[in-house]
Amino acid sequence: MKQGIHPQYYDATIKCACGAVLKVGSTQKEMRVEICSQCHPFYTGKKKVVDSAGRVDRFKHLAEKAAAKKAEEEKIKKAKKERMEQKKKEEKKREERRDAKKEK
Ligand SMILES: [Zn+2]
Repeated sequence: MKQGIHPQYYDATIKCACGAVLKVGSTQKEMRVEICSQCHPFYTGKKKVVDSAGRVDRFKHLAEKAAAKKAEEEKIKKAKKERMEQKKKEEKKREERRDAKKEK
């Protein structure tokens, strides 16, 4: 090995959030990871939500908000439609009355 160009090589420890500790060779002495082969769903075969940054919660929150907004819009649309129908009915009644007067 040429001197002075290689980084320091350590027997590193990698600690996982699940508690597993792995020993490897690395230029970093210590690493912390959120998931490893001991706890990753691919290896364990169990379903597990990996949500270290709260992304799933955030998505659920946004979805809830979107659903609420949609419901509100639907309500407004329905109310508008009903109003329009009411207007049409009134107009029809008025026309009928006018026609009745003309016949007299
Ligand atoms: Zn792990």
